[in-house]
Amino acid sequence: MSDNTINNSRRSFVGKTSIAAAGISILPGVFLHTVAQAKPDDEAVSSKNRWGMLIDTAKCTDCGECVSACNIENGIKSNGPDRQATDPQWIRKVKLKDKATNHIVSLPMMCQHCENPPCVDVCPTGASFKREDGIVLVDKHICIGCRYCMMACPYKARSFVHETITDQKVYAPRGKGTVESCTLCVHRIDKKGANATPACVEACSEKAMIFGDLKDPTSEISKDLKARGGKQIRADLGLNTGVRYRGI
Ligand code: SF4
Ligand code: SF4
Repeated sequence: MSDNTINNSRRSFVGKTSIAAAGISILPGVFLHTVAQAKPDDEAVSSKNRWGMLIDTAKCTDCGECVSACNIENGIKSNGPDRQATDPQWIRKVKLKDKATNHIVSLPMMCQHCENPPCVDVCPTGASFKREDGIVLVDKHICIGCRYCMMACPYKARSFVHETITDQKVYAPRGKGTVESCTLCVHRIDKKGANATPACVEACSEKAMIFGDLKDPTSEISKDLKARGGKQIRADLGLNTGVRYRGI
């Protein structure tokens, strides 16, 4: 797919809800694909949900399955052995060492989908935005690639696209000269809601990652957090992240 096709994909990505809700017909009897799909795909994004993730570092074996799955799902490729420093990373493996005990934990790090996201605060164009359901995204139509958001993000969760994108996925629009980060596999969530599973969670053979609705007390993630707890990385920043960790 060429860069020219990116914009149409992005429109469906950002504006799908309004199109679907309106039930637009482009010709008599011909409806846009999104209108014909079953719920919850045609339901508006709502603040009744807050999508999040719980990661159990004790179960993480540092295998990297989550990283590979994310790259495949979202069409992310390396820029080559000489340019690995410019490779986009939506999810990466990080090691944390407890200086007191020398205990090391390995964990996947990605956009934490902050309730109070600094990336959104600093974005001069409004390209960085938070949906009603808590997912933080970049609208590549209006991202000017200034990278303020990359500097503002305490988790180094965002990447700049240095190269022309080829063979990109229709559901994960990307573009050279823009910034991107984990979308929580928003395309899956918009199709299946609470029944969705992000690609990284699906790939983790150790079941170290749980995805779900933090606002639903009956969801697996809420019940697990209530029973056994979970922490935010840099909770002191007051960002109220949607991604929580156990064992840190
Ligand atoms: Fe923004 Fe970074 Fe928070 Fe993601 S982790 S919402 S990119 S500040
Ligand atoms: Fe906003 Fe794009 Fe600049 Fe980030 S790089 S602050 S998303 S315009």
